[in-house]
Amino acid sequence: MLAKFSYRFLLVVLLFLITLPLSFAFSFELKPKEVIPGDVFSIAVHANKDITALPIAEFDGIKIDFYRDINARLIALVPVDIETKPKKYPVSVHYGDDKETKYVTIKPHSFQTKKITLPEEKVILRPEDLKRAEKETELMNNTLSQVTDRLWDGRFTAPTDTGISEPFGTKRIMNGKRTSVHRGIDYKGKTGTPVNAVNAGIVVLKEDLFFGGNTVVLDHGMGLFSVYMHLSEFRVEKGDAISKGQIIGLVGMSGRATGPHLHFGLKLQGVSVNPLSLFKLEL
Ligand SMILES: [Zn+2]
Repeated sequence: MLAKFSYRFLLVVLLFLITLPLSFAFSFELKPKEVIPGDVFSIAVHANKDITALPIAEFDGIKIDFYRDINARLIALVPVDIETKPKKYPVSVHYGDDKETKYVTIKPHSFQTKKITLPEEKVILRPEDLKRAEKETELMNNTLSQVTDRLWDGRFTAPTDTGISEPFGTKRIMNGKRTSVHRGIDYKGKTGTPVNAVNAGIVVLKEDLFFGGNTVVLDHGMGLFSVYMHLSEFRVEKGDAISKGQIIGLVGMSGRATGPHLHFGLKLQGVSVNPLSLFKLEL
């Protein structure tokens, strides 16, 4: 009886010792650990031994790829949709048969409300405009669904330093009805103010859109895109390779804009995210 027990005990100890180094092949860190809906957070993996293949992260049902930055750190950027319910969410990193889980807190946030009153005839679109807008939405969705290799280099910087006139997440109430959520940032700016690329990328769209007016979309790779709208002038062509800070166009009020400003948006894995949360990350 005693001998059998000791044998089992020894086996348990042995198994524990064998699995111990394997389960500590890596550790990871979430930055920041608390966010609000619409933010981006990062996962940095610290490997305790040489990792040959890349790990995979999982958050709220989506899988996220890692990349190696210039210092060979493994980083993943995670988008939190603005409609995400505030609570604690598990974030898992898988590597081979290994899995580690940590928690990110999505805090509740009350976004601003903006009431707009317009004559009804200005709210209702003509059938031909509606058709054009639908076609352009499809073009935009196709553009934003391409996934390429990472092109960005280091931190993201603001497209202009003129100040913000409307933040991300504002709920718009048009003639008493909730119409849309502002899924970008509006920057102030006179017509002709230069607009800078927030990071290195490729011009994947350069179009005059019904709502957005003169619009440029930059692909930064790995499902991350920056969108610049209402430009008065383009300074790039489709297919151009752009460096961080390069002028891509000038502020204007083309498309459906009531005055000159830059509408700037960021899409990550198809999710509109608050650019300010990405600018804060040390990449
Ligand atoms: Zn806007």
